[in-house]
Amino acid sequence: MRPSFHPRLINGPFNDPGLFIPFFFQKRALVFDLGDINGLPAKDILKISHAFVTHTHMDHFIGFDHLLRIMLGREKILSLFGPRDFLKNVEGKLSGYTWNLADKYNYPLCLQITEVHPDFTLYRKYRCRDRFEPLQNPVKQPFDGVLYEEPAFRVSAVVLDHKTPCLGLSVKERFHVNIINEGLKRLSLEPGPWLSDFKQALYSQTDPATKFELDTPGQHGKKQFALGNLTRHIARITPGQKITYITDVVYSDFNRDKIVEFARHSDHLFIEAVFMETDREMAAEKYHLTARQAGELAGRAGARQFDIFHFSPRYTDQENLLYQEAEEAYNNSL
Ligand SMILES: [Zn+2]
Ligand SMILES: [Zn+2]
Repeated sequence: MRPSFHPRLINGPFNDPGLFIPFFFQKRALVFDLGDINGLPAKDILKISHAFVTHTHMDHFIGFDHLLRIMLGREKILSLFGPRDFLKNVEGKLSGYTWNLADKYNYPLCLQITEVHPDFTLYRKYRCRDRFEPLQNPVKQPFDGVLYEEPAFRVSAVVLDHKTPCLGLSVKERFHVNIINEGLKRLSLEPGPWLSDFKQALYSQTDPATKFELDTPGQHGKKQFALGNLTRHIARITPGQKITYITDVVYSDFNRDKIVEFARHSDHLFIEAVFMETDREMAAEKYHLTARQAGELAGRAGARQFDIFHFSPRYTDQENLLYQEAEEAYNNSL
């Protein structure tokens, strides 16, 4: 399967956590956590349409300023999501700067902020041209676990315990469209950005009679194909890709049960492993996981692949031990 999402940790495992999730063949990306994001080139930052922040400890939120700076003066709508007090935290950041000339920008940025509670969300909008003064009172809506949804995918969240509410996050494709190369060849078609329009049409349940006009190199230029016919020849539908991101959580019954259920059958689970099992008391005190606990959770959730990150600097040059410990626990819990 050629995945639609290509998630990658923004920094090395000893640096700030953050997962960048670009979409295959699209100038579009999601990001989970906004720690130090200086490692992302501006062209990648500009792809971000939705940012999801697990909690607002500095190592997960200090990149907000950098993100805002890159996006300022662009005609963009940026949606951000975070846990309890997130509106207050964003407003605090925004009120730290002077915006007296912000209404002169040609292209006004708009921020859409959603604060997530266990069973409701609060939504508020801020526009650059209004100097980021909120226009209306927060709008309250029920929350059933799905934070954001499009025809092709949905982002879900669960509220976990880090001595402060902390969001577990996942993105899941509705289904996966595998492109059959043989089929493309048979129809004299070449892969390209048009494939993402084709997939989008399938996700949106577009009428199969809808025509696609496509280049057929080697034949006579452009040719028309009906969506249904094209699908029969070049596509195979399989279950959607699921990526889960869990960080900054204490190992408790409450968190363990929620994480195992939430991360179930992830294709790729990214999970923190701040400490080694020998330091588990320190892990409990600081509300973090050990590598063994991370591996065990990955195994119990049946994750097909997992990666650990957010290592404590006390293990500098010993990261192998963390990877080994997590791998062993994973294999024993599958
Ligand atoms: Zn952290
Ligand atoms: Zn934290």
